[in-house]
Amino acid sequence: MAMRTLRDLFEHQLKDIYYAEKELVKALPKMVKSASSQKLQDGLEEHLDQTRGQVERLEQVFASIDKSPETEKCEAIEGLIDEGASLLDEKADPEVKDAAIIAAAQKVEHYEIATYGTLCVWAKQLGLEQAADLLGESLDQEKQADMNLTHLAEHEINLAAETV
Ligand code: ZN
Ligand code: FE
Ligand code: FE
Ligand code: FE
Repeated sequence: MAMRTLRDLFEHQLKDIYYAEKELVKALPKMVKSASSQKLQDGLEEHLDQTRGQVERLEQVFASIDKSPETEKCEAIEGLIDEGASLLDEKADPEVKDAAIIAAAQKVEHYEIATYGTLCVWAKQLGLEQAADLLGESLDQEKQADMNLTHLAEHEINLAAETV
């Protein structure tokens, strides 16, 4: 698809994050299984639920601009998921592995925050108020998920990983 205008670019990026969120729905259960800390498992499970909601929210965004949902392969999320998965394949103490899972998860959150942040700004610029509101809701969830991971890492997981 040719990208002549900001609107074209917006739709392209929308398909990219739609692909990414769908991939994350598949990838997150493996991260939950690899985690040892109950709090980390619970946090990832909660974000998996949110991620399913984000997929649906993106479908609402597509509907709000009279488009049917389409995906566009997101190379970045493939890379982040693959890199996280190969880190989890390495032998490590459970507490250290949990710290690695948080690191991988936060890289994903930061990618999502960047993408939703940009989409939100573009939607506003394009006068797509409903899309901007919906994208803003997911942006807030990603920021909160990132902060929760930081909190868990700094107050528990990193300490446990250091002292094993
Ligand atoms: Zn996500
Ligand atoms: Fe997400
Ligand atoms: Fe992407
Ligand atoms: Fe997320």
